[in-house]
Amino acid sequence: MIVFDLSCAGGHRFEGWFGSSADYDDQQARGLVACPHCGSADVAKAPMAPAVPAKGNTRQDVLPPQAAQPMANTPMPPQVQQVLAALAKAQAEALKKSTWVGDKFADESRAMHYGERDEAPIHGQATLAEAKALIEEGVPVAPLPFPVAPPEKLN
Ligand SMILES: [Zn+2]
Repeated sequence: MIVFDLSCAGGHRFEGWFGSSADYDDQQARGLVACPHCGSADVAKAPMAPAVPAKGNTRQDVLPPQAAQPMANTPMPPQVQQVLAALAKAQAEALKKSTWVGDKFADESRAMHYGERDEAPIHGQATLAEAKALIEEGVPVAPLPFPVAPPEKLN
């Protein structure tokens, strides 16, 4: 079933239920769709309109739909973009002396912390659980503020 908002030549609005859009077209063409208020068969689909609140406050209806959207698409001020770009560059600079160890980050960090291998700057990936465990063990690790692409993916 499909419901259409219909209006007659007299301006009455009412709902009509049909099996399908084609069903409506067929019934309407044969004059079988009549206004329940005045009986007029001069009926057409009413233009789509939002439901009007009963109290007559139509202010909401005239606002464009995007006005209700969250503000996530608000552009960042240029200063923010500059600072972020500078930070991203600083991170890249800092990581130049660091070795990418990929998903071995937790193992390598732990090995260094317990003196099982020479200390060296490394960076890689760790799951949230791994990172939490490292921090709880006192291994000095910190999340990188910006994502780092694995070197093998840069080619
Ligand atoms: Zn009517």
